[in-house]
Amino acid sequence: GVKANGRNSIAFFEPQMQIVVSQRLQLETELRQALVEQQFCLHYQPQIDARGQRVIGAEALLRWQHPDKGLIGPGTFMHVLEESGMILQAGHWVLLQACHFIARLLGECKLAPDSFSLSVNISPRQFRQSDFVAQVDAAVRESGIPANCLKLEITESMVIQNIKDTVSKMHELRAMGIRFAIDDFGTGYSSLSYLKRLPVDLLKIDQSFIHDCAQEGNDAEIVRAIIAMARSLKLELIAEGVETAEQLAFLQQQDCHAYQGYLFSPAVAEEPFLQFILPAQSNIDAHESR
Ligand code: C2E
Ligand code: MG
Ligand code: MG
Ligand code: MG
Repeated sequence: GVKANGRNSIAFFEPQMQIVVSQRLQLETELRQALVEQQFCLHYQPQIDARGQRVIGAEALLRWQHPDKGLIGPGTFMHVLEESGMILQAGHWVLLQACHFIARLLGECKLAPDSFSLSVNISPRQFRQSDFVAQVDAAVRESGIPANCLKLEITESMVIQNIKDTVSKMHELRAMGIRFAIDDFGTGYSSLSYLKRLPVDLLKIDQSFIHDCAQEGNDAEIVRAIIAMARSLKLELIAEGVETAEQLAFLQQQDCHAYQGYLFSPAVAEEPFLQFILPAQSNIDAHESR
């Protein structure tokens, strides 16, 4: 066996290492190709209002249509995009694509700009680019959307890495009408005093706390504390990863504002997303035309 002999284990690890390195290189090469050949697409996960009825927004999530392996989620490749710097190009594409989808929702589906927003995840490296504000501004202008339909999701750790620069960029973007969400809230290190300094509109409670929140215990207490804190700081809230009716009932009891999770829908491609929101919309149209 491999463990039995020290000498053998050295011979074992070298080829293993080589496999890891070459797999990584291959993934990087394939991702470069994916950017050139436009194999990326966005899927959209609906966000549902407090009563669990109306779609108030969506989150854009990156997917890779791999030529052999099919549809791949960001868990397997986001770190490579990030480390290689390809996230700058990919992130720019995501931003443009998301803004054009907003334009489509407002135009074709006649969604009211005050009642719908699309969230886009922004990676730390992307946010730190010196022309990031100009990039967002150009995407908004080019697509002709009202800026308040676009939300940027950032994480606590990203803010803390460089609070001064981050906050000043956030203020610039906010002056344009862009709104901000703190993603995976509760998993980072932000204190109340940090939060008060940040021009943030919304907290997304991390799904790790939602998972067991319906069983009374630590996670239920953490969720209660986050909701109480958001209320006192006058921040909106979305619970992420809501999968069961029990979790939803607990959250509704705590007066959480909105939900995102498999209970309602996973992230889906553009067309199914339109199908998801259109039934509700056509009722409104029918009502208005009377
Ligand atoms: P995130 O921003 O926290 O996104 C939520 C993740 O939870 C998504 O995974 C979503 O599919 C998943 N999810 C939603 N509802 C449920 C549920 O009920 N149960 C469970 N178990 N999971 C649920 P996904 O799409 O694999 O994305 C993973 C992460 O990759 C995202 O986490 C985000 O950090 C990153 N990411 C995705 N798209 C982009 C992008 O365009 N740019 C950047 N920079 N990061 C992205
Ligand atoms: Mg997110
Ligand atoms: Mg999250
Ligand atoms: Mg995340």
